Amino acid sequence: MATYDISTDALVIRAVPQGDHDRLLTLLCPDEGRITVIAKGARSLRNKLMSPCRAFVWGNFELHFKGDMAWVRDASVIKSFTSLEKDIELMYLAQYISDVCCELSGQGEPAGELLPLALNTYHALCTDKYDREIVKAAFELRAAAISGYLPELTECIRCEKTEAPAFYLDVMGGGIVCSDCIASAPEIPEAEVPVDAYGTRSIIIPITAGVLAAMRYVVNAPLKRLLSFGITSEVDKKTFCRAAETYILNHLERGFASLRLYHELSE
Ligand SMILES: [Zn+2]
Repeated sequence: MATYDISTDALVIRAVPQGDHDRLLTLLCPDEGRITVIAKGARSLRNKLMSPCRAFVWGNFELHFKGDMAWVRDASVIKSFTSLEKDIELMYLAQYISDVCCELSGQGEPAGELLPLALNTYHALCTDKYDREIVKAAFELRAAAISGYLPELTECIRCEKTEAPAFYLDVMGGGIVCSDCIASAPEIPEAEVPVDAYGTRSIIIPITAGVLAAMRYVVNAPLKRLLSFGITSEVDKKTFCRAAETYILNHLERGFASLRLYHELSE
């Protein structure tokens, strides 16, 4: 059986207890993408793997592979975001961010921008400088955009018009639709289709110019400046956040338990 070792930086996006002493980690690595590894003894006090081998740690990992299995030989913390666990609402939000990263990453596929996006998002949530809902929505939209679900936000996806009295987000159509196109082909009202039928229904969300500007900003901005935009009205903020969440869940065609728990606590 082939054995080899690698050394890589990685973000621990999941850490579940295994047996009495170990943890099973899901790592997101720049080059190797998503890797599942066993951290032997990581649940034992005084074990050297205890602090680096937990969720929300960005660290350096020495990994040993044998066949389909991998073990952590050694690890060190580069930056810890474990303060996210101090607040249960924040913890579920961070877990949801990780769950989305898990869903959007692949084994052996370089993580690309998803990794710095996750790190930036954890950092923003730790600093408490930003509105959590805005951080979440910016992550959702950008994660969708970089993972093959980039929404068309410059012109109507049906008539290609760039100017219109109003625009709507056609979630499953993957872009904006102008008010003229909506008027000529009214959609089934959203209330009439089941809410958990992700990816199977037509969802049209009315968006203001302010919401559209924020969405355009988030899909195009340099990652370092992802949160440097403003949404002035509370109504626009709500629409922006709802649009971002609806957009990613419907393109992933699934919901998340972590997100449900976050909503239960935050509402
Ligand atoms: Zn149109």
